[in-house]
Amino acid sequence: MGISAVVSFYAGDIHKVFAQSAKANGGKVHLIWLPMAGDSGCTISMLQASSPDLIGAVEDLQVSADFWQPLMTPDYDLGWVSAGYTTEDRSQVPLMNAAFGNAPVDVLVVEGTPQIGAPPGGSAGDYCTIGERNGKSVNAYELLQRLAAKASYVVAVGQCSAFGGIPAAKGNLTHAVPVTEALKTAGVTTKNPVINLAGCPAHPDWTLVTLASVLQGFAPDLDELGRPKAFFSHIIHDGCPRRGAYGKGQFAQTFDDPVGCFWKLGCKGPITQSACSVTKWNNGISFCTQAGPMCWGCMHPNFPDPPTSPFFAQVELIPAYFGLNADTVAEIAGIGVAAAVGVHAVHHALAKKKREQTETSERRRDVKGDSQ
Ligand code: SF4
Repeated sequence: MGISAVVSFYAGDIHKVFAQSAKANGGKVHLIWLPMAGDSGCTISMLQASSPDLIGAVEDLQVSADFWQPLMTPDYDLGWVSAGYTTEDRSQVPLMNAAFGNAPVDVLVVEGTPQIGAPPGGSAGDYCTIGERNGKSVNAYELLQRLAAKASYVVAVGQCSAFGGIPAAKGNLTHAVPVTEALKTAGVTTKNPVINLAGCPAHPDWTLVTLASVLQGFAPDLDELGRPKAFFSHIIHDGCPRRGAYGKGQFAQTFDDPVGCFWKLGCKGPITQSACSVTKWNNGISFCTQAGPMCWGCMHPNFPDPPTSPFFAQVELIPAYFGLNADTVAEIAGIGVAAAVGVHAVHHALAKKKREQTETSERRRDVKGDSQ
């Protein structure tokens, strides 16, 4: 079963997916959640997972989350307490056992950006250290290399680990890079391709479904950027409730406009691929452009650098192909000319044509089959 089938469960009964994972693994699965440069936002996002919630998922999957620092308290046992680790001040022990000892690592989840630069007088990766070993601090870059080489699957959760995110934005004094680049620089090969779950933060349900899939031993179909196609094939703009306003050239002047399109205010929905407008967030309730603010492009591989910034400037790239700006689009919309100008519109026309051609040839095949 591929990720598409897993996703079909997602809408109805995700518990079936997790139950299958546990059965397929026949026991505990050992997971390390490695923090690097970031703000733990993806961990907080995971705590908002709703169907199932995080504890339910860990139980159903029979996962032992041997190291997940922000959540490692005796009251919040995600496997590490039952694995025999007893007090919070020893929380680095399971991490060191996994990286330097014989403790197994089935899945390595990386949250945050690896910083591979060397500070003055230091070594590569010394900008970020986690815990101590033999009385010395251990740099996170070394932990990443050891754990990634050992794990069956590496999942880069969130924009920082998948694409560098804010720590790798222009300036970047610590030489922060995506997980894939950090591993490539170190010459580390992984057993399976690194899975990139973009987003600031990563979507908790997409993360759980992806983990459920790899824990069953099924690597999801990935696009050329290493993202599961199931969650990163859509253009946010296409499913936006304000798409009709965009088509009519009705552009909001302020963010409290209940119906107008936010393009002129800087919305990055037309250039951002993700299933936000399909699965939505917070138990399927809403997503950015539906809830009020615009899309910031937090899942765009360049976020927060251009073309996702400046944040409050309209994306000129798209109409610029036609020598138009948003005002001109509004004008021509007013006189009945197709307002959906832009690369995405052309893309749509081509996709539609292709779809029609496919449907026509399928119909021809059906007719031929019927007549035989
Ligand atoms: Fe929605 Fe933004 Fe597209 Fe407007 S530009 S339709 S607000 S995604």
